[in-house]
Amino acid sequence: MAVSERQLKKAIDTLKESGVRITPQRHAVLEYLLNAMVHPTADDIYKALEGKFPNMSVATVYNNLRVLREIGLVRELTYGDSSSRFDCNTTDHYHIICESCGKIVDFHYPSLDEVEALAEQVTGFEVSHHRMEVYGKCKECQQVDTKKH
Ligand SMILES: [Zn+2]
Ligand SMILES: [Zn+2]
Repeated sequence: MAVSERQLKKAIDTLKESGVRITPQRHAVLEYLLNAMVHPTADDIYKALEGKFPNMSVATVYNNLRVLREIGLVRELTYGDSSSRFDCNTTDHYHIICESCGKIVDFHYPSLDEVEALAEQVTGFEVSHHRMEVYGKCKECQQVDTKKH
């Protein structure tokens, strides 16, 4: 069984345990997210699936993503005014973002727990989580630039 298949099965088990109905659309959204390691927007997901589900609207996609987020299968990454990106990798990881094409790639680094502890100490906040993002230019975009010159 491929990794994504195993993850899909596990995710579907979680859905069942949460008592969430597994509609064909919900299944497709989840499957798409698990296979797309690019952190798509709701619009990306809609465009990828509209051929398969002609009656599906962007609102349906959002609704499904909300349900998946509520039971902890999907993480939503909000970026100010631009639309949210969705991530089904809910294990601890960090993101590097391409400033040219907007691609978000996962990378692993030991969780910066000391930063949370220090922040709590110096500010008196009760820390819930943190987010760190690294920015740069992805390999593909670097190549595009080289070709232009
Ligand atoms: Zn890029
Ligand atoms: Zn991620």
